[in-house]
Amino acid sequence: MVKTMHAAIVESFGRPLVLQERPIPSPGPGQILVKTEACGVCHTDLHAAQGDWPLKPVLPFIPGHEGIGRVVATGAGVRLVKEGDRVGVPWLFSACGHCENCLAAWETVCGEAEYGGYTKNGGFAEYILADPDYVAKIPDLLSPQQAAPLICAGVTTYKGLKVADLRAGEWVAISGAGGLGHLAIQYAKVMGLRVCAIDIDDGKLAHATRLGADLVVNATSPDAVERVRVGTDGGAHGVLITAPSLGAFKQGVGMARKRGTCVLVGLPPGEFAIPLFDVVANCITIRGSFVGTREDMAEALSFAAEGKVKADIELQPLSAVNTVFERLQHGDVAARVVLDFAVA
Ligand code: NAD
Ligand code: ZN
Ligand code: ZN
Repeated sequence: MVKTMHAAIVESFGRPLVLQERPIPSPGPGQILVKTEACGVCHTDLHAAQGDWPLKPVLPFIPGHEGIGRVVATGAGVRLVKEGDRVGVPWLFSACGHCENCLAAWETVCGEAEYGGYTKNGGFAEYILADPDYVAKIPDLLSPQQAAPLICAGVTTYKGLKVADLRAGEWVAISGAGGLGHLAIQYAKVMGLRVCAIDIDDGKLAHATRLGADLVVNATSPDAVERVRVGTDGGAHGVLITAPSLGAFKQGVGMARKRGTCVLVGLPPGEFAIPLFDVVANCITIRGSFVGTREDMAEALSFAAEGKVKADIELQPLSAVNTVFERLQHGDVAARVVLDFAVA
């Protein structure tokens, strides 16, 4: 008899996920099977379920790219991990390993990359098939619930800050203080940066202050950009835009100091206009950043294992996933919801 697992499935874009029993997959050669202990809910899962982006996932699919669990079975030829290891199955599910990007340790932009919970089934299920070459190794000091947000929100913001090329003492403006942003603030403080947090929600801003933000600005205030520029004594050296809102992008570019770098991380569908004269005349760099490499992942996790960064989590059962999506859509999640598979 085929054993089954509970899974939350996107059957059509923009519709609630369907909770269903599915056969537990079995690992083929070079694959592993992970028994899910926890999986974070990222705003990307919402974009995926709504079919927001030009490259759409093939229906039906199981979202979730912050899944953490134990390896319970390995296919032929698997050497890097063994049964019982705790791993994370991230957005970067796999890459080719030999293209110019992979060879340059930029596997995140590999043209043959597969994405967890998008082009491959993800962690909103009791079991996940994974590629052992690309799973995150979870430090023993972290619980699966604590580790979950780090393997997307954590590594993404850590990498985004790295490519902003900042030095200790400089200012970073972090737009969006939600799942990604609340971790970005902490990584930035560990890096010795001065942090200005920007959000549309005063509750999130109060939380940002508790996490160490030196300055907070509500994005809805008409002089938000000016307040950031004045508060950072001429603009932020780096701007990390995590907000899933196009308005935040235009605003964020205006917050950059001369010669500053704006790192675009949020992925609302659409395009935004760049104030060309200001960007050119002030020598501002605008760059995208997409999750992080396996090396970034190990670094991002080790900061947490050392207790320097801690995800704020709210635990919910898999069965609550549609309510969690609705809340995320309306900005009603304080930081990160983690689906906890220990609860029924
Ligand atoms: P979230 O919903 O947890 O947090 C978003 C935050 O932005 C909320 O606090 C919200 O109040 C705030 N916000 C909304 N509009 C704003 C505005 N105009 N100005 C300032 N703040 C505003 O979402 P999340 O999980 O942190 O994800 C954020 C975005 O990042 C999504 O678009 C997601 O797809 C994207 N993402 C990108 C990558 C990447 O690799 N580039 C990785 C993960 C997530
Ligand atoms: Zn994510
Ligand atoms: Zn490649």
